Order: sequence, then structure tokens, then C-alpha cells
Amino acid sequence: MALLDAETEHRTQGGPGLPQQRRLVTDLPGPRSAAILARKVDAVPAGVGHTVPVAAVAAGGGVVVDADGNSLIDLGSGIAVATVGNAHPKIAAAVAAQAAQFTHTCFMISPYESYIEVAEALNRLTPGDFAKKSALFNSGAEAVENAIKIARKHTGRQAVVAFDHGYHGRTNLTMALTAKSMPYKSGFGPFAPEVYRAPMSYPFRDGLTGPDAAERAISQMEKQIGAGNLAAIIIEPIQGEGGFIVPADGFLPALADWCRANGVVFIADEVQTGFARTGHMFASEIFGVVPDLITTAKGIAGGLPLAAVTGRAEIMDASHAGGLGGTYGGNPIACAAALAAIDVFENDGVIERAQQIGTILTERLTAMQSQDPRIGDVRGHGAMIAAEFVDPETNAPDAALTAAVAQAAIAQGVIVLTCGTYGNVIRFLPPLSIGDDLLIEGLDVVAEALAAA
Ligand SMILES: *Cc1c(COP(=O)(O)O)cnc(C)c1O
Repeated sequence: MALLDAETEHRTQGGPGLPQQRRLVTDLPGPRSAAILARKVDAVPAGVGHTVPVAAVAAGGGVVVDADGNSLIDLGSGIAVATVGNAHPKIAAAVAAQAAQFTHTCFMISPYESYIEVAEALNRLTPGDFAKKSALFNSGAEAVENAIKIARKHTGRQAVVAFDHGYHGRTNLTMALTAKSMPYKSGFGPFAPEVYRAPMSYPFRDGLTGPDAAERAISQMEKQIGAGNLAAIIIEPIQGEGGFIVPADGFLPALADWCRANGVVFIADEVQTGFARTGHMFASEIFGVVPDLITTAKGIAGGLPLAAVTGRAEIMDASHAGGLGGTYGGNPIACAAALAAIDVFENDGVIERAQQIGTILTERLTAMQSQDPRIGDVRGHGAMIAAEFVDPETNAPDAALTAAVAQAAIAQGVIVLTCGTYGNVIRFLPPLSIGDDLLIEGLDVVAEALAAA
């Protein structure tokens, strides 16, 4: 009962109305969170892990509040989802209104306008000055699966290439596309066939120019698969889980050109990079590439589950009627949230804010790097910036240091996420609604954690 009261109290002050402060009133987890997390151990399988040892009851602006009244600085946005800010008032209002109107008819049974409006917006906002169409789904993995289905149907070919360090989801096909074994794939095979891996451009570790890295990948694809067998390549313009790896200039355009010349569908997986996150509406714009298909999810709907495949109309139309869809895909509440979020992305200066946040993050982390050679690399765009931690002598990845810094920051009330094939990257994905003060305070805490480690 007491817990419910506390939750209600927080909820009435939720969203951007929450006090914008880091405030720890207990060690983490406090007693209420600890009790809830103990129930998690009994009720939820161990395979569903968690990073921050608290039970959240409210979030907004740049903070997450837990069941004990601790207020944590949010530098993760629930993995790049709450980009416009948690419980954004425009989204909360749109969701409430739609929930009172109708919650589900199934778009494949009785279609509704909001789905079509989201598709129109995606067709307009994604790169490419040609006729486009969009189909909506529930999760990033589902969007990726459907992009592959569409590319195979369009080309009549089967092989698909994904890249080293790539992450595309946890379903069977997307596990096959994902590079890293632990924790995403280990023990969960067999994986979908006709998925091949090509080398990524990773400037900090391979030292190759973009064109040279592309030549390496193309040569491997031609020799090991054959362009004529290849339906699609799928690539994150900036890799997310793999370590915020930004390919060298020229890498993505060379791949896209090769795809076009060989009838291979070029799929950009913008599930993590999409919707203003990188200081551009889509990260493909940074590299001057125009994908044939783009997958989106995470930031699209302010936290509601929604995902999309958007692309060239003639490719998107390859499937027979009934070949694409799903019971919940493009749920009306999620569509209402997406339309509200897209309004915010287009009209509320969010892209500019992502660029400002990127400047603050990059300047601070670069300054830290100049004092501390354990930060081997600082990279990213906009509000998607990472630091890679290494042994300064050998450049070898230092996962232990990375975990220690992240855990210490979390214990001090700053939510940071790690990533990377080698587990040695801390990534910063703050909500774009965070204030400068809170962002800088969060970075101060990370700097102290590093100094102490
Ligand atoms: C998160 C992510 C996915 C999977 O999305 P889910 O919604 O978790 O299924 C796919 N691709 C990329 C690039 C991602 O970051």
C-alpha cells in the first residue's frame, strides 16, 4: 500500500515536472527497490537482466526516480528510446486520447488513419528523393526481419550480409545477423542460414580508410558469396551495441554504390541511430548515403513499442498481399505516440539540442582523454557519444575498468550504459530533454569514477 502511495505521488509529479536533480536518499537499491528486485528474482527468468538496481516509478526531463525516492540522472534514455524525454506531455496526451477512442482493431482487419499518417511521415522524413512506402511493426528485431523478407522477395536471392560488431536483435534471424555471441547468441542456435559476415570499418582498431575498408568487405563478399546470390546487406550507420563504432568516411557510400551496381538491397538499420539521436533525423545523412530500406524503432514513439521498415516503393511492394503484417503492428496507441513524437522532432528544436548535447559530451570526454590515456577513443555524433577504455600500453580493451567506472557512476546516481564487442565502451545516450547542468553533473560523476578506478 505504502509503495502504491509513493508511486502515485511520483506519477502525479511525473514527466518533465519532476525535480531535475540527482538526489540519493538511500544506497542503491534502497529497501523498496530491493524488495521489488527480490520478487523479480522469483518471478522473472535470470536471462532477463538489468543494469541499474532500482525499481523505477517515474521519469522525465533528465531523471529517473525510483521506489525509494532516489532521483538518478538518466544518460541512457532506456537505450535511446526516450529521446524526446520520458512522459513527454504531448505524447502522454496523445496516448490518453487514443486509449479512450479505441485501443486496437488490427490494421490488417480494419485500417485506421494514424498508421497511414505515420507511414507518410516516415516516407517524407527518411533520406531519398523517390517514392517510398512504410510498414509498421512492434520491435526493432521485427522490423529487421521484415526488411530481410522484403529484400529477398524483391531480389529472388537468399544471402544476406551483416557486419562485424553488428547488432540487429534477439529473434532467430536477427541473432544470426548479430555478431556477438555472449550474451546474445550463446547456446541459442541453430541460427538462420544464408547469413554471412563482412568486416566493418573500425578506424580506431583497423586504421583503414573508408574506401580501403569497403574494398576489403566487397572483395570478401564477392569471393565468399557472389554478388548474384546476395539479396541485401544490412548495416548500422553508427553501430550501437557493438561499441558506437563510426565507420571511416567513404565506407558506407562505397558499399551503397556497390550494392546499387549489383542489384543488392542496401538496408540501413537505424533502430538506434534514428530520430534526431545523432543530431540528424537519420544517421545515414551524416555519411551521405541513401539506403534502399531503413529500419527504425527505439526513438520513434517516445517509449511506446513501434517499429518500421521504410524504403523504395518498388522494393516495399515486392510482397504479395498478406505477406507482411502482424496482429499488433502499428497499434493505434503507438501510432498516436509516434505522431506526437514526430511533431516534437520536427518542431521543437530537438535536432539542434542533440547537436548541443554532442558538443558538451565530446568536449568533456576529449578533455578527460587528454589527461587519461585509459580513454583510447572518443567518438559518435550528436547525443550518441562513447568512450572506449583501453590499456594505454597495448591499446587492449579494458572491460574490467569499463565495468568498474559504469558501476561506480550508477552507485552515485548516474545511469550509464556500456557496450562494445569487447565490453570496453561507455555510451552516452541522454534524453534530449536533459538540461546542461544535469548532463555536466553526470559527466562529473563519471570523471570521478574513472579517477577512482
Ligand atoms: C535495439 C536494436 C535492435 C533491436 O530492437 P528491439 O526493439 O530490441 O527488437 C535492432 N537493431 C539495432 C541497431 C538496435 O539498436
